[in-house]
Amino acid sequence: MKGAAFGCLLTTPVGHTMFRVSCEVEFCYGHRLLNYDGKCCHLHGHNGKAVITLETPRLDERGMVIDFTDIKRVVNRWIDDNLDHRMILSENDPAVPALTELGEPLFLMDGNPTAENIARLIFDRATEAGLPVVEVSLWETPRCVATYGSAE
Ligand SMILES: [Zn+2]
Repeated sequence: MKGAAFGCLLTTPVGHTMFRVSCEVEFCYGHRLLNYDGKCCHLHGHNGKAVITLETPRLDERGMVIDFTDIKRVVNRWIDDNLDHRMILSENDPAVPALTELGEPLFLMDGNPTAENIARLIFDRATEAGLPVVEVSLWETPRCVATYGSAE
């Protein structure tokens, strides 16, 4: 009996110990912020970097949280197809009709395209794709980062 109970304990995750992996995706984007008093109210661009962090309590049979190739396939492709080399704008931005007419590639979002909201956007897409994502950070510049993720 003692042995069986001990075996049970071993299969229970200990506390909040988790395996965690992160992947970086670099991409270029333009944006501007509405209702903002500063340089960022004008159209401008960034060499951004998204850092996607995934977490699982156990490893799969290969000894992985998830294959890095799978993260890359899902997240890289979505960012490549939707955000890279595009203007990310609020759907209420008055520049949208003119840029659309010029054939400029846009990605329109619900709120202001801040680093915080772009981090949340990538988090939501990665979650919808079934990845056990816990945190996405968006580095807008090498010195400024915004993070969206599950609270402890
Ligand atoms: Zn900016």
